[in-house]
Amino acid sequence: MSTVVETKEFQTEIRQLLDIVIHSLYTEREIFLRELISNGADAMEKLRYTQLTGEVKDKDLPLEISIDTDETAHTLTITDTGIGMTKEELVENIGTIAHSGSKEFIKHLSAKGDQKDLNLIGQFGVGFYSAFMVADKVTLYTRSSSLEGASFVWESDGIGSYTITEGEDLNRGTKMVLHLKEDAYDFAKEETVQRIIKQYSSFVPFPINVNGKRVNTVDALWIKNKNEITDEEYNEFYKFIANAHDEPLFRLHFSSDAPININTLLFVPKENLEQFGFGRTEPGVNLYCKKVLIQEKSPIVLPEWLRFLRGVMDSEELPLNISRETMQDSALVSKLNKVVTSRFLKFLEGQATSDPEKYKEFWEKFNFFIKEGAANDFTHRKELVKLLQFESSSTVSGELISLAAYVVRMKEDQKAIYYVNGPTREGIESGPYLEVFRDKGYEVIYTYAAIDDYIFGSIGDYEGKKFVSADQADLELGNEQKDRSELALPEEEVKVLTDWFKEVLGSKVTEVRESKRLVDSPAVVFSPYGTNSMQRMMQLMNKESNEVGPSVLEINASHQMIKRLDEARKKEDTFAKIAAEQIFENAQIAAGLIVDPRGMVKRLNEILERALG
Ligand code: ADP
Repeated sequence: MSTVVETKEFQTEIRQLLDIVIHSLYTEREIFLRELISNGADAMEKLRYTQLTGEVKDKDLPLEISIDTDETAHTLTITDTGIGMTKEELVENIGTIAHSGSKEFIKHLSAKGDQKDLNLIGQFGVGFYSAFMVADKVTLYTRSSSLEGASFVWESDGIGSYTITEGEDLNRGTKMVLHLKEDAYDFAKEETVQRIIKQYSSFVPFPINVNGKRVNTVDALWIKNKNEITDEEYNEFYKFIANAHDEPLFRLHFSSDAPININTLLFVPKENLEQFGFGRTEPGVNLYCKKVLIQEKSPIVLPEWLRFLRGVMDSEELPLNISRETMQDSALVSKLNKVVTSRFLKFLEGQATSDPEKYKEFWEKFNFFIKEGAANDFTHRKELVKLLQFESSSTVSGELISLAAYVVRMKEDQKAIYYVNGPTREGIESGPYLEVFRDKGYEVIYTYAAIDDYIFGSIGDYEGKKFVSADQADLELGNEQKDRSELALPEEEVKVLTDWFKEVLGSKVTEVRESKRLVDSPAVVFSPYGTNSMQRMMQLMNKESNEVGPSVLEINASHQMIKRLDEARKKEDTFAKIAAEQIFENAQIAAGLIVDPRGMVKRLNEILERALG
């Protein structure tokens, strides 16, 4: 056995993290125990899984966590009989952070040191390092469960570096000795440790012994009857399973025997970490068979767009030794997936009616996942569309309605569901596209995200009512026969004016015609490709060229400005052309299209000069 002591530096991000852990995470520092117990429990779950498919060291060693306190030496020792770590794993797992999102987050935290953000820290695994909240030295002994290999001793004061030494061979698993800081001596008291375990770790599915006495009673909450479980128990279970520090937003607990045996306990977290810029959320629902973990954080047991859920699914019908590969094409797993997804969507639909305020909170944080599902998941699309919520021309800002509510409010003669895309409510309402709808009293849905238009475009209709974009040129609103206003320019004259417009604007327009929908605005543009949002998207994809592409221009023949323009044109005033170009570009801006500002500034200056005399 070699006794060479290797000293290694912590990765920069780990050093930053340790610095935060040691200096700022003072509140509730007793959670370190939960973090370490849950690491031990994870290691034992992993062992249980490895054992299904291969041989492990000390195969008869019971799976349990032992905690020993020593008030004289001021130490707390936590031992598990889990999977342990090889030397490489030690370096990899507790010397580095691989996930780039987590790295970014730590940088941001060290700069800000905000308490709310600090609470989020546990969500991506500050776990092990929390030991340094209470200890000024940690010694870890570990022996991997593989038959070959050796035991190693890892030690650090949590400042800049750690050492690894090969030690004498031990039983499989990991033992952590915390040398407590003076102000943390309390954690070497048996009663303190027992209290913390009862509070935070009652659901750990392995025995936990403190100084040889069993503390937790193993309890698979999801198998129990709903009315035997208190809110506190549910919340603590959530914190345990989701590694969370706050309470969940929603929970759904259900059991059924048909069409398939299933016990499920699902939680929606309070926060959507993707919104915080963490990168993609990893799935968080574990698959069990009769309380034995089959797959942790299963990526296949629920659709990808439900990756924000945390919880447990347990089915007696799953074969215990199902491998990850066969699980992928297991008909049973896809049935579970379908049943639980539908049940969860029904639950959300119920929440939307029974507790709209809370549903709104959910929607604000998680709407993107639901939309992602509605856009891509054909199996559940119908159920998902029911959950969509929007602002509209009949709501106030921040008030949301469902498509069902929209349909109920539709006017008798109204044939379609109308929507219009824009960056903000103000942007949409100051544009020309709503005028005709206001005139007819039709409600228009406001979509602020491109994905909404994509969903409407691809589902086509809702309860037989077609989705129609309000910025579409060929709207059939049934007012085509509307009498021309007496104030409007005569038709023959409009014809000359539109021809003239076409000539002035050249290839920027495919057509210029009189509008049948405008009331207050002088002009409006439409995309020859369908909707302006589509054109905007094309423009964004084509950033370098900034080409707007041609538009269809419609003019309002009753508008003062258009009438005056016509007079100027007749007098062959050179200013008429400048005005025509500006009217056109104003309409493009109102459509949300990006217009080259340089040419416009020059033109606006000319217009101002003239206006100021
Ligand atoms: P997390 O548990 O969230 O992944 P931690 O910082 O707590 O983050 O731990 C990092 C990694 O170290 C774990 O993912 C695991 O691979 C390893 N580890 C920690 N504690 C143990 C243990 N008791 N037994 C085996 N491996 C462990």
